[in-house]
Amino acid sequence: MDMNYCMQCGTKLRMKYHEGHDGEDAGMVPWCDGCESFRWPVFNTAVSMIVLNETKDKILLIKPPKGEGYVFVAGYVMQGEEAEETARREVLEEVGLTVTSEQFRHSRYYPRTNTLMLNFTVTVKDEAPKTNYEVQNCRWFTPDEARENIRHGSLAEAFLLGYLDGGVYHFPF
Ligand SMILES: [Zn+2]
Repeated sequence: MDMNYCMQCGTKLRMKYHEGHDGEDAGMVPWCDGCESFRWPVFNTAVSMIVLNETKDKILLIKPPKGEGYVFVAGYVMQGEEAEETARREVLEEVGLTVTSEQFRHSRYYPRTNTLMLNFTVTVKDEAPKTNYEVQNCRWFTPDEARENIRHGSLAEAFLLGYLDGGVYHFPF
């Protein structure tokens, strides 16, 4: 999803050499002749959470209204919001649970929605989950059950396998 025109003034962008900072080479970057500014690529940022119970032996997965299998609680980062804040907010909104700690793990760019997805593990208080309209249901799974029930071929599956097996799982897309 490339940006061809300036989002401020509509001028057609052209590629221009950008020196970067401290002599570091940033290469060719879209430039607007109207605003005389570089127009860095625009994309969405979202977070997805591996929700763990207090003893960290169960993983909470949600079933979205559409599609097969379970996925992670996830959502878009609002402008001005920190990703950690989004992680806590989305867990509270979607499953009604209070996050006590969060840890960033890995990020992956997802071309289909032009989104940089940031994956976190979060630990939640021992409370009963309460889902909102975005969620059909949610359930606690053991790691092996989570592996079986996660939506196959999804970004969530890749993050889950990376978490369970260690290291970074590489994606088919
Ligand atoms: Zn412009």
